[in-house]
Amino acid sequence: MDEALVTMHGKPVLTAGEVACRCGCGFALVKPELLDAFRVIREAAGRPLVVASGCRCEAHNAAVGGSLPSSHVLGEALDLEVGSSGQAYQLVALAIAAGVKRIGVGWRPGHHVFHMDVSHEPPFLYPGERSRLWTY
Ligand SMILES: [Zn+2]
Ligand SMILES: [Zn+2]
Repeated sequence: MDEALVTMHGKPVLTAGEVACRCGCGFALVKPELLDAFRVIREAAGRPLVVASGCRCEAHNAAVGGSLPSSHVLGEALDLEVGSSGQAYQLVALAIAAGVKRIGVGWRPGHHVFHMDVSHEPPFLYPGERSRLWTY
């Protein structure tokens, strides 16, 4: 499970073990646009980044209360672990610099998460706002 999932310029960016569906079904897909953004963020972060949730099969997505269609089901989203509000700030800044246009941040007891995705679905709440930041 820990073989390189995809490489860019000969360097591994993510392993299947990092992004595979946590239910154990083996689903592991990351779209190139997301992989490229993550590579840039990981290189700039200056600290290890831990993927909290990557790919989800539809059953697991439902089990964790994810929306459908979820960008996690489509290989378009990564959630990273966040240990402090300073790390949350850093990830938001790095993701925007890397061209990520959809970011969600959860910051409450027991739910610290940084979500980024490269979905091209039209925004349904605020049409025209392709760049979005929301909270969980
Ligand atoms: Zn699964
Ligand atoms: Zn997410």
